[in-house]
Amino acid sequence: MTIKTADIQFNADGTPVATDFDDVYFSSSDGAQETQYVFLHNNQLQSRWQHWTKPTFVIAETGFGTGLNLLVTLAAFKDYLAQNPASTFTLHFISTEKYPLSHTDLVQALGAFVQFKDSANALIAQYPMPLNGCHRMAFLNNRVIVDLWLGDIHDSLPQWQTNESGLVDAWYLDGFAPSKNPQMWSTQLFEQMARLAAKDCTFATFTAAGFVKRGLRDAGFVVEKRKGHGRKREMLAGYIAPESDTQINRQQARYYQRGAYIHPVDESVNKAKCGHGLKPKVAIIGAGIAGATTAYAMAQKGYHCDVYFKEAEPAQGASGNPQAGFYPQLNVDASNASQINAHSFIYAANQYRQLLSQGFGFAHQWCGVLQLGFKPALAQRYAKLADNQLWPPALVRYVEANEASRLANCEIPYGGLFMPLGGWIDPAQLVTALFNAAARLSKVTLHSHHCLSELEQKAKSSNTSPPQPWQLRFNQTANKASINSVEADIVIYATGAQSHELPHLTDYPLRMVRGQVEAIPTQPALSELNTVLCHKGYLTPEYNGQHALGSTYVKDDLNTEYRHSEQDKNLATHYQSLAKCNWAQDVVGNAHGRAAVRCSSPDHLPLVGALADIRKQKTELNDLYKALPLNYYPKASDMQNLFMLTGLGSRGLTTAPLMAEVLASQISGHPLPLANDLLNALNPNRFLIRQLIRREI
Ligand code: SAM
Repeated sequence: MTIKTADIQFNADGTPVATDFDDVYFSSSDGAQETQYVFLHNNQLQSRWQHWTKPTFVIAETGFGTGLNLLVTLAAFKDYLAQNPASTFTLHFISTEKYPLSHTDLVQALGAFVQFKDSANALIAQYPMPLNGCHRMAFLNNRVIVDLWLGDIHDSLPQWQTNESGLVDAWYLDGFAPSKNPQMWSTQLFEQMARLAAKDCTFATFTAAGFVKRGLRDAGFVVEKRKGHGRKREMLAGYIAPESDTQINRQQARYYQRGAYIHPVDESVNKAKCGHGLKPKVAIIGAGIAGATTAYAMAQKGYHCDVYFKEAEPAQGASGNPQAGFYPQLNVDASNASQINAHSFIYAANQYRQLLSQGFGFAHQWCGVLQLGFKPALAQRYAKLADNQLWPPALVRYVEANEASRLANCEIPYGGLFMPLGGWIDPAQLVTALFNAAARLSKVTLHSHHCLSELEQKAKSSNTSPPQPWQLRFNQTANKASINSVEADIVIYATGAQSHELPHLTDYPLRMVRGQVEAIPTQPALSELNTVLCHKGYLTPEYNGQHALGSTYVKDDLNTEYRHSEQDKNLATHYQSLAKCNWAQDVVGNAHGRAAVRCSSPDHLPLVGALADIRKQKTELNDLYKALPLNYYPKASDMQNLFMLTGLGSRGLTTAPLMAEVLASQISGHPLPLANDLLNALNPNRFLIRQLIRREI
């Protein structure tokens, strides 16, 4: 949903004031010092960082506002890194905001803090559009990850995924004054703070209001009154009571809980290993867009990856078409699928632009995408989608026929939806750019001609002992495989249409769909086309003298030979959809194109996460249909250290980067950049869970 931006005025000192709350965002005289004292000092950040051994330190804040607290924290962390170059943990800063500042107000508000100019500019450059949900940003070369959750805090916090040991190490409680915005300081908030608190979690807040003190205490925090900043007499700070930990029910649906990588050796030995830079061995199977984005996300988190694929070059499957449209599939409602598409698209658009700015080039055109209302019912649906303001105009807006014609630079007699951040990309070049970018960050090795034939985990000595590494065996394709068998601690399937052939994947309801895309020779009228057009199919602007026109969808057909009959079908769809465009009727094919098979799922959403141990889950959850309280059920058993990212269908360019980030975050035990409901909708075990609930098995 689109979020309303904050209504702000700047007072005589230049400090932003929220009109609706009649309160300042930070102290007019010394905002940065107040943050330093109240939040950083009272959460003892500097001293705790000195002795930190977990892979992440997670700060959560209740009101993001101008981001000043973030900037002060970034400056402190930068100092800490300068003094502790051997430190390895990632700082996560998670914040919520119901009324985000507009971009213009943000620039003005942060203009006053010249000492934070670089990080303020980095924030301004990544600041998200006003769409509810999680927006992930990165600072200080990925050492600080910021998740800004737009929306009401009471909606956002229950959507944060946490495992049994909690998520947050330090809370910054920074709403407007409790007297001016009491609903933000509610029992519900304090209970969520306790649900999400990790062991030894601390909190600090500028207020000393009695009901805040009592509320935090009742929720399980030890609360102390401390000296306030400047002229303020008192403030509150404290920590989660050790005994609270055992009483907190952290999960909504434990069978969807996501497990991280489990160290194959004793915890203490492993910490020492990681501290010396030795990382688990990661094997990624598949080198299409799923494999490349996964390698990039894993490399950003410092993992070394070996990527195995059976072809001679990466991107030979569905990611191998020369031109592919890049846009989200948005609906009139905020369904899980629409939200996943919208957030994935925004994340991907940012990632691809960053790759280009870092010098990792690929052919593309950010020319926008026009989804045409070529039938009256469709035009009405699109107009409604724009009218109900579900999506920010920066993501999608309705355009009338004359604007559509101007954008397309061709006569378009239909209105439609325009997505300005979209365009087309050469996916194979993008895949190469991603692997190159990953290799610049970490050790990433590509192994062509390696077709996985067997995958076995060595037996554990007992049920409770840590998992053993996976043993991978490869068929030698054309006798070119240099490795016959190898061990890996973590295996990730990013295998697209080859998924159905692979060990442990046969129980998943994966659907293979053949698609043929035409390479249409350009001609004078057609060469004018300046944006991607989508109707029942799609047509791209010219690239290397050709336009991509697609695509067919043939279920369960694994053949990838070019077919004349499908060319006829693609052209017929195009002529029919654009029946009122004269120029479109002149498009002719010359029997050139490419067919590939995409891997899809019954609900058209990707499968992202650990592979389920299906046999065990069937037993553990066999009475799920009884709908007993959720905490009655055990955490569902997954295959240990075996993960998947597949089922991207024809939407891989849009969804892969965020899905890969979700997976890499899960594996490394970092906070997840998606709401629980959306994570559940992507969980590989969801089909099994649905069957168990419906008592179909
Ligand atoms: N930390 C901020 C900074 O560094 O600029 C200042 C925060 S300001 C005092 C409080 C923030 O809480 C405002 O930005 C306000 O819009 C936000 N807020 C108010 N009610 C909220 C709610 N129910 N959910 C999430 N954010 C809310």
